Amino acid sequence: MRTVTLIPGDGIGPEVTAAAQAVVLASGAAVSFEEVIAGQRAEREHGTPLPKAVFDSIDRTRLALKGPTQTPFGGDYRVNIERADGPRVAKRTHPSIAIALRKELGLFVNVRPVKKYPGVASRFEHVDLVIFRENSEDLYTGIERMVDEGTAEAIKIISARGTERVTRYALDSMQRLGRRRITIVHKANVLKMTDGLFLRTAQEVAKDRPGITVDQRVVDALCMELVMRPEDYDCLLLPNLYGDIVSDLAAGLIGGLGVAPGANFGPEHAMFEAVHGSAPGIAGQDAANPMAMILSAVMLLRHIGEAGAADRIEGALAQVLREGRAITSDLGGSAGTRAMTAAIVEKLKT
Ligand code: NAD
Repeated sequence: MRTVTLIPGDGIGPEVTAAAQAVVLASGAAVSFEEVIAGQRAEREHGTPLPKAVFDSIDRTRLALKGPTQTPFGGDYRVNIERADGPRVAKRTHPSIAIALRKELGLFVNVRPVKKYPGVASRFEHVDLVIFRENSEDLYTGIERMVDEGTAEAIKIISARGTERVTRYALDSMQRLGRRRITIVHKANVLKMTDGLFLRTAQEVAKDRPGITVDQRVVDALCMELVMRPEDYDCLLLPNLYGDIVSDLAAGLIGGLGVAPGANFGPEHAMFEAVHGSAPGIAGQDAANPMAMILSAVMLLRHIGEAGAADRIEGALAQVLREGRAITSDLGGSAGTRAMTAAIVEKLKT
């Protein structure tokens, strides 16, 4: 029996993580959940959005299923964390909860499959991409400052070591998944040093992989090509910021943010979370699509060797989507989060 740290998060997070938990438990997977609180509720109850108990749990389980957490726009919001480090307690500061978890746990790659399911309305029928996003560098280091009252600057960091690591991870998982083509995405025509280093390093690491073709695209051209012919692409490798933006764009190709799952991996820990945020506008209304979080849990099950349970959940979800009776409004239906979840659980039982 594997224990998974469950972080419900903010906004629609508690609703969609409850859905994922119910579906996983109904699948018969040998998994139990240990719930810890992060986000606004933790701030209210413990005076910090990311209490030490969250790290204590994940450092034990090495596995987390995380709902979205809210980050205020602008201002000087920072997340101060405390984490056990041998006999002492380390204290550090990060720009958001999601970034704090990714950095602290060494989750250097964010994997986001982008697959069109039959029954989900979209402009395209055949989209089946995997996005590999570098998860620890680039403009997400949080190094920013006001130079004077009217000028701000941010520092973009790209390292050969970080790029090698994410490229190797992408190539290894492509070989496991039987994927054949990787497109390195960059803006090396303008950012000659940072993106230039990312492009050169990734090309060097990828050049001798048997069975894998390597090409490259400037990020703006890629965006245009993706919205015209997404079926031309197989796997994308991107630095952190472009990976974040292109992931949302790609979610739009397959039915929207409600359907796009994700996973973060590091040397010791793995954390599974949907691409979407906390969607405060629909929180608490039983209106959120639980599919992205359920598919993130499916990725978790595959990661721990529960492929049978993962296949059963994907099959049940696909059936509910094809029937179209119990789907949420973003998918063109009129069911709530709970009714869609109940329909998937029902299929798992039969
Ligand atoms: P968002 O993803 O929360 O919402 C964008 C749009 O998509 C909204 O219209 C929303 O209603 C819709 N949407 C999102 N998920 C949906 C679902 N499951 N079902 C139906 N509709 C859904 O993005 P945002 O509004 O830019 O961000 C809101 C908050 O979430 C911000 O505080 C942001 O920092 C945070 N956020 C957190 C994470 C994370 O924790 N990993 C990721 C992205 C954004």
